[in-house]
Amino acid sequence: MRIGVAGIAGRMGRLVAEEILAAGATLSGGLALPGDAAPSDIPLFTTLADLAAISDAIIDFTHASAVQPHAAAIAHAHIAWVLGTTGLSPADQAAITYAATTAPIIQAANFSPGVALVLALAERLGAALPADAYDADILEMHHRQKVDAPSGTALALGAALATGRGTTLDAVRLPPNTGHTGPRPPGGIGFAALRGGQITGEHSLVLTADDEQIVLTHKAFDRRSFARGAVRAALWSAGKPPGLYGMTNVLGMEPHP
Ligand code: NAD
Repeated sequence: MRIGVAGIAGRMGRLVAEEILAAGATLSGGLALPGDAAPSDIPLFTTLADLAAISDAIIDFTHASAVQPHAAAIAHAHIAWVLGTTGLSPADQAAITYAATTAPIIQAANFSPGVALVLALAERLGAALPADAYDADILEMHHRQKVDAPSGTALALGAALATGRGTTLDAVRLPPNTGHTGPRPPGGIGFAALRGGQITGEHSLVLTADDEQIVLTHKAFDRRSFARGAVRAALWSAGKPPGLYGMTNVLGMEPHP
């Protein structure tokens, strides 16, 4: 399989390129911005359409501003798109959904296998515990270079919990906890984001009742686990029909009954 890497000069892109080769697949080329310190021994492009033309799949860890043009290029090329970029707007997400009518797209805010399981557990906790008795918060910490907050994984955790509670995150997301907030409303889902040092990614779902507390934590020690998961998703995409998939599909995890 010929896999191209969008954002090949970035923290994630460099690791993805290494993991493609480690998996025995072909690194077809990379997408990089002018001035990026990209590898010089593979074909480099500045538009995704050109990279897509020589690839069977694209792994994309770039920036939210690139998502809509990339979605259009993928919809035109009909090849697989493994999308890890976070911080997306509703319009970005709509462009992805549209592109998924013509191409297989695997999108995950976090490609580590452990987080896919934590998301499934969050949904089960949401279904099992009454929302008005268990105040829910998601606490995350990342390295100081991260540009979006809360993280895509934190939002995915909130969305999974909300789904388990039979609602949507938009309906129950609490505003930032600052100033004269008044008492906490029941059923809300709060977020807190810390930035510092070189923390790869830490997420906790905290469910607090009057008489007990549940804390479900995932800590990523090395962003290589995201890169490996993304390559696994690209290999899995071979021969898949158009559609929007997630890591639960790649890992063969069944939705809980
Ligand atoms: P980074 O800044 O190190 O790398 C991003 C790269 O994309 C840079 O080389 C930059 O030049 C390039 N880029 C930026 N805008 C571009 C554009 N318009 N067109 C083409 N290239 C462009 O960032 P990173 O740490 O590698 O993270 C990249 C993205 O991936 C972020 O959104 C981050 O939150 C996300 N991320 C997702 C996961 C996951 O598992 N889904 C894991 C880690 C990071």
